[in-house]
Amino acid sequence: MTDRYAVIGNPINHTKSPLIHGLFAQTTGQDMVYTAVLGTPGAFAQDVAAFRQAGGRGMNVTVPFKMDAFACATEPSDRARMAGAVNALKFDGDRILAENFDGIGLTRDVTHNLGVPLAGKRVLILGAGGATRGMVMPFLAEQPAELVIANRTVATAQALVAEVLAQSPASPVSACGYADVSGAFDLVFNATSASLHAELPPVPVTAFAPGCLAYELAYGKGMTPFLKLAQQAGVTHLADGVGMLVEQAAEAFEWWRGVRPDTRPVIDQLTVPLV
Ligand code: NDP
Repeated sequence: MTDRYAVIGNPINHTKSPLIHGLFAQTTGQDMVYTAVLGTPGAFAQDVAAFRQAGGRGMNVTVPFKMDAFACATEPSDRARMAGAVNALKFDGDRILAENFDGIGLTRDVTHNLGVPLAGKRVLILGAGGATRGMVMPFLAEQPAELVIANRTVATAQALVAEVLAQSPASPVSACGYADVSGAFDLVFNATSASLHAELPPVPVTAFAPGCLAYELAYGKGMTPFLKLAQQAGVTHLADGVGMLVEQAAEAFEWWRGVRPDTRPVIDQLTVPLV
């Protein structure tokens, strides 16, 4: 029987996940269908139960349900626990296994696809929301020299750093506000949602080291204000989050199906040029 998967979110009409997983299924020869489900605010658990009853094997979860998905999981992974948010569910009898692949997908895009190691580097993350929570542990596993999290609401970044240090006290991680970002960084990630409103987080231009990688987590938006600022600072290595999107999908696909799809052609197909 054809196995069923879906992405659930609200709104959901913009999602690229059915296209990505459809291409993965085609190229790996998996007998599965992958659709989009418009989730009902306040009734996430019921929507998931209905999908499971109809034979669903797994789901991706997007805004605004990532925390609801964490709440309904019976077995969240360590990564999901750290993030307090879930972007993939796997159904196995009564068990609901939950994962957060955003950070690991981003790490793979940066280190593997873009060829930029984090090891020994000064790394700056702008923003301290859900995406950053998923990034911190996979980034620290790469052993950067320093990981600084700057956020508009400094207390949110400080709380996240306190959680990380409670788990691994020797981690080279710290929090600050934008005015206190000092020195130049080898990798700068815009993990704020500012670009979704064509806004710019107030990162000082001096944060971009010559030769650094400036990475915008939003995707398909061309040159965002963040990427334009990096370019003005002389940065030539610019990227957006399309690779992260496809790599987190590949992680979920392998988790569900036990097969690793080739991501390169899918990234190429979805890439919107940075102009
Ligand atoms: P959240 O809503 O959880 O967090 C938003 C963050 O952005 C907060 O830190 C908030 O700061 C900050 N922020 C919002 N507006 C501004 C602004 N004008 N100036 C400065 N800071 C601002 O969002 P997510 O973490 O879920 O998503 C962040 C980004 O990552 C989005 O662009 C999203 O599209 C992208 N993303 C991409 C993925 C991919 O696969 N490529 C996957 C997941 C996310 P404060 O705390 O002060 O409010």
